[in-house]
Parts: sequence; structure tokens; C-alpha cells
Amino acid sequence: MVTSASPTTDPTTDPVAPSPGTPAVITPGEGAAAFEQDVDPVSPNRNLAPLTAQLDGLGRLWVGGCLLSDLARTYGTPLYVLDEATLRATCRAYRLALAEHYPGEALALYASKANSSLAITALVASEGLGLDAVSAGELLTALQGGMPAERIVLHGNNKSAEELQLAIARGVTVVLDNWSDIELLQGLAASRPDPVRLLVRFTPGIECHTHEYIRTGHLDSKFGFDPDQLEAVLRHLAGCPWARVDGLHAHIGSQIFELEPHRDLAGVMAEALALARSLGHPCGDLNVGGGLGIRYVGSDDPPSIQEWVRVVATAVAEACRQRQLALPRLLCEPGRSLVATAGITLYTVGSRKEIPELRTYLSVDGGMSDNPRPITYQSLYTAVLADRPLAEATETVTVAGKHCESGDVLLRDVRLPAAAAGDVLTVFATGAYNAAMGSNYNRIPRPAAVLVHEGVADVVQRREQPEDLLRYDVLPARLAPVT
Ligand SMILES: *Cc1c(COP(=O)(O)O)cnc(C)c1O
Repeated sequence: MVTSASPTTDPTTDPVAPSPGTPAVITPGEGAAAFEQDVDPVSPNRNLAPLTAQLDGLGRLWVGGCLLSDLARTYGTPLYVLDEATLRATCRAYRLALAEHYPGEALALYASKANSSLAITALVASEGLGLDAVSAGELLTALQGGMPAERIVLHGNNKSAEELQLAIARGVTVVLDNWSDIELLQGLAASRPDPVRLLVRFTPGIECHTHEYIRTGHLDSKFGFDPDQLEAVLRHLAGCPWARVDGLHAHIGSQIFELEPHRDLAGVMAEALALARSLGHPCGDLNVGGGLGIRYVGSDDPPSIQEWVRVVATAVAEACRQRQLALPRLLCEPGRSLVATAGITLYTVGSRKEIPELRTYLSVDGGMSDNPRPITYQSLYTAVLADRPLAEATETVTVAGKHCESGDVLLRDVRLPAAAAGDVLTVFATGAYNAAMGSNYNRIPRPAAVLVHEGVADVVQRREQPEDLLRYDVLPARLAPVT
């Protein structure tokens, strides 16, 4: 975003829909610094707002050609809004960067735990990506959303026999996480004509936080085989006719801004690849996981998708060259960086509580049930008022949710223009790990989700109703109220 001049709101003028290609010009109080950055059209994860964010002649915010306050009126709030153009641009960014920087075959798999739905699956599949799932629910969503089974992998540190059965029946690749997976699959797959396609996951001894990372021989992680076990596992699998080890997998963390850990990971994985191939496994795939971070607030400065892919791809190619290994197909698994920036959440402002010289609480009609990240991880977000994002910020407020929990705060001490009940608040970068981690706490129904594109909004998730929440309650007859 570029810095604005003063707002041009003139209520006497007719609303003017923004012309395509005009970038939004926003000075959103607290988040002002965030909007002084130029829009990065090729790496959406570096922006706060979706790529199609624009202002009309009244200074109101539009996304995907839809006026946000109109969406709020039509579909109610809280409302998840997903911008198709941003999601597609992100998929293309991964695909093109892999083609440009990796000399072999490559495929990005969407880590669908970030936001699993039929619509997102269909979009991601149509962009040529694959997908990773971690449960029968995510797997069914992927298959029903049209993702070809051969582009799906199933993860999980405690897969059930039913989940494994579903995966092998549909031809989905299974990521072996532990000996229990091996035992279960042995029982399920031994009688099948074709071997099960497998990736073997191990903990590479690389751990990331946003601004530091550690390299150790072992990691305290519930996921994957310990590196010391890898050789024994691969030797065991070499004697299993039902198993076909197609590759190796590792994943080092999430919301990572550093590139060095991924460079190191390539060396560790190439070493393991050499071992696996020396034991006779085909091992044509190397899956380096996901983890690229995104911009939630102005001070976040993640690498671009192109930069991340360049570093990963170059490091893998180089590590293989050094060990004279035929180039594997390179797989990666972006979750957050693929969907977060495409998503925003709309809320309606309700009550206000002013505690003199302490704090002003502005409450909205959602909260920790539709976005549990602030209360879980103290995550930061950026928000603007949908109909006057450019208005001067005049107060510092804490935006609270409506749940019975003091920690139910979406944004703490942010600068906003004076907001009144009924105003629509837009929170950016909520496309990943919001809906997916949401709950029905306080028996609050889940929000609807709409996909916006070129002025059309399609409901892709219907709004839950309070009655829906009773569907699985069972009242034993002896407790039934006497009528
Ligand atoms: C969570 C996860 C991802 C995606 O991580 P992001 O940080 O969302 O990109 C990819 N692979 C595995 C195995 C994961 O657990």
C-alpha cells in the first residue's frame, strides 16, 4: 500500500466503484506504518491486504470487486471473505518460482489444515497444486473438492486404521510418521496388489522460531522418526513388499522469516536421500514441508515466495549435486503463506466500555471462536474500519470478542478512527488458521465464508445456526422435561 493523502470522503458524492488497477490508499491509524509499504503484486504474503483491495470515491474499502460493508449487510457478520485473485496469484507464485529456480520437477502441496474447504481445494487444484491432509475429514474434503488422489499426501502422528484405509483405497500417498503407521499399514496393505506409496518423515534437528533457530541432532517433537531411527526404518521397509518408499519428508516450523534453516534442511535431507537410495528405495521425492511466514502487522517483513523458493530449490539442487544424487522431484507444503493474505474477517462493532485512564474496549460480534490465534499465540493483527479506512485515527482501543473469557481480545491497543455501534471492522490476513482452528465456544455458531471475485460473492461456507449446535446433543429420556 502507498501512503495516502488526506481522505476524500464526501458523503454528497455518489459512490464510485473503484476502477481496476487502482491500488488502495489507506492510513489506518495504528496500522498506518503497515500501509506505507508498496503492494507486492507477485508475493501476496508480503502484503497486509488482499491484492484486490481498493477504495471507492467515498473512501470505502472493496475487495474482489465487492464493497465490504455491503457484504456485511448481505451475509451478516462475523464473515470470512476470501479473495480469489489473491489465492490464485499465490498459487501461481509458488508454481512459477519452482519452475524458475528448480532444475527438476517440482510441486507445491497446499497444507490444507490452514483452511480446509471444498472451494479452496477446487481453486488450489485448478492452479495445478497438490494438497496435504492430516485427517479423514481433510482427506474427504480434498477428494470431494476435486483434488486428484495422486497429488495428495496424508500426514499425521497418530493416524487411525480408518484414515489409512481411506488413503490407500483412494491411492493417496501416506507420510509414515512412526512405527505404528508401519504396523497398521502392514495389516491393511499386505493383501493389496499394488504397494502403498510412502514418504518417510523424520525430524531433521532444525527448529525455527521467527527470529532464531536451533540445530541439534535430535528434536523434542511428536512428529516423524528420530534421525537415529531413520536407517532402521528404511532397512525394515526395504523388506516390505507392500511398501514403496517414494521419498522423504521433513517440516521445520511455521511463520518463519529466516531462510537459513531451509538452506540447512536441504543438506540434511540430501544426506538422508543418499542413505535411502543406497538401501534400494526409489525415493524420487524430497518434501521440505512449509513454514514461510506472512505479514500480519506493518513491522513483519517476511521473505517473498520467490525468495523462499529460490533458496530452497537452489540448496536442494546443490546438496544433491555435491552428493552426485539424481535430482528428486521437489515438493513443498505451504499452508499459511498460501491462504492467509487472501482472507479477511468482517465484524460489526457493538458495545463500548471506557475505563478512564486505563483502556477503551470496543466489542465485536465474533472473537476467539472465529479467530483463536490471539488468545492462543498472542498473535497480532491489523484492522481498519471498512467504510473509512482512511479516516484519521483518533483513539486507542482494545478490540474484544463477545466470549466469556477476559483474554478474548482480537487486537490490543490499536489506533482507530472513532467507531460506533454498527460500523464494520475489517481484520486482515485471517485466511489461515482462523476458520480452521475455530470453535463453538459459548455455543456461538461458525461464521459464513464468501469467495469474492470480480464483483461476485459466492457463499462457500454457510453460516451455522444456533439450532445446528443442538444436532448432536442427545437428551436421555429419563432427563427429558415432563410435559
Ligand atoms: C503445518 C504444516 C505445514 C504448513 O505449514 P505453514 O507454516 O502453514 O506453511 C506443512 N507441512 C506440515 C507437515 C505441517 O504440519
